[in-house]
Amino acid sequence: MKIKRDLLIGILESAKEAYPYEFIALLTGKRDIISELIFLPSISGEESAIIRLDMLPLGLNVYGTVHSHPSPCCEPSEDDFFLFTRFGKVHIIVCYPFTMRDWKCYNSMGEEIEIELV
Ligand SMILES: [Zn+2]
Repeated sequence: MKIKRDLLIGILESAKEAYPYEFIALLTGKRDIISELIFLPSISGEESAIIRLDMLPLGLNVYGTVHSHPSPCCEPSEDDFFLFTRFGKVHIIVCYPFTMRDWKCYNSMGEEIEIELV
């Protein structure tokens, strides 16, 4: 699985804009390259961002999720582990202050994985 560098930059920008609230979106794309975000109506708060499952469009190629942490900690929370098991196989967490170093990628088990920038 790979991700477009431009998309990651866009994610970090969106996370900055949403700060101090969480930003959350789904990851989609083609041929195992994540190239687009799907924004969903969500309930944002400082503690959590909840995806409205009933608002999910049908037939989407959902690779995983991305969300931001308003803290300088990119480790998944208990809620995040639950989220990871629900959608796809790649889960990105970006954390404050949202530079190119402030992100981590996890699989659906919550284990840290490497993802290639293209
Ligand atoms: Zn989280």
